[in-house]
Amino acid sequence: MPPPSPLNSPLSTKWAVLETIPGLIALPGVWRQRFGEAFEPMKDLILQESPHLAQLLPCPRGCGLAHDIICRPDASLIATCGADPNQPRDILLSRAEITPWEVSWTKLSRALFEILALHGKPAPLLLPNTLQIGAWSAGGVPVILTVQVCGATFRRVVAELVARLQRRFILLAPTSYHCNAPCQELLAHARADFFPLETTVLLSDNRRLRTTRPPGELFAPFTPPRSETDEAEAARVFRLFGELLGMGTDLVAPPARVFDLMVLRQMTKAETALECKCAASSITKRVALIERHYAMSIERLRAFASDLKERQRTVKGDRYARKQQGAAPEEPEQYDEGDRPGGTEDGDGYLPEERQSWTGS
Ligand SMILES: [Zn+2]
Repeated sequence: MPPPSPLNSPLSTKWAVLETIPGLIALPGVWRQRFGEAFEPMKDLILQESPHLAQLLPCPRGCGLAHDIICRPDASLIATCGADPNQPRDILLSRAEITPWEVSWTKLSRALFEILALHGKPAPLLLPNTLQIGAWSAGGVPVILTVQVCGATFRRVVAELVARLQRRFILLAPTSYHCNAPCQELLAHARADFFPLETTVLLSDNRRLRTTRPPGELFAPFTPPRSETDEAEAARVFRLFGELLGMGTDLVAPPARVFDLMVLRQMTKAETALECKCAASSITKRVALIERHYAMSIERLRAFASDLKERQRTVKGDRYARKQQGAAPEEPEQYDEGDRPGGTEDGDGYLPEERQSWTGS
């Protein structure tokens, strides 16, 4: 069976392209042809320019060969094709045309990390084109992305993940094309689940990525049930945050602000230092203070915060769904924070019109 044709995919599901580009690197013309209308947004979201120029040019005249790219003494760049006697042999090239674009694992994993409301840090797994992009929920379920052109490599990656992790995990890949019955069997054995990006992460009209359903719904089977202990812990975290506020808000890098930036917004130390206009060493001191104050590591606090945020989003998703169906007459129209007319940015920095709508198509 031939691989799925990326050219026939609708605009919002161009993930299949990634499974057609060996090495995940190609000239801009190739990406443009395969991504079609999605090229510009996808380029901004997940691609980066390679530092090296290409040496071969897949023939733009369709002769089926790849031609050597030659730099002439006057620094102009050409390739030559003699297939069509009616056209000049030399094909003049610009630097931009022969600068390949490659998938940026940093951009791709960061984008997915954010829209899937993950926590933790990316971690290499020493498997080809495979990365742990973060973790889901307070249970710390590993979320792994793999991009494979070849089905046999995909199966090898799945088998090795199952054998090495020895626990449940969430696997993402551009499409389900390679996830055949033997792979599904392996995943079921580990009680892992597979999510093809083409049906879970779409390109929205505003050229951002969005999920088809709130992550809390997508990954519900991986979210530990909320216990009374969790409730008590939530109350404790809020009380302790009040105490952080009490430590002062006019200091350099106030503890409550560092908590907000690093725990709630998941910024790195360097980003937080930039935001607070202070040295990274000051942030290190504040982090130590916060960890002592909560008797919890920053990582644990982040997991906790992302879990709370996710639960809140799931509730909001339900409310959006109800609104879409029309509010019952006795039920007053409700606006979420930042959703009311003339509202300003919400906690995630989205304006109301930028906010993801879980109920849209
Ligand atoms: Zn040619």
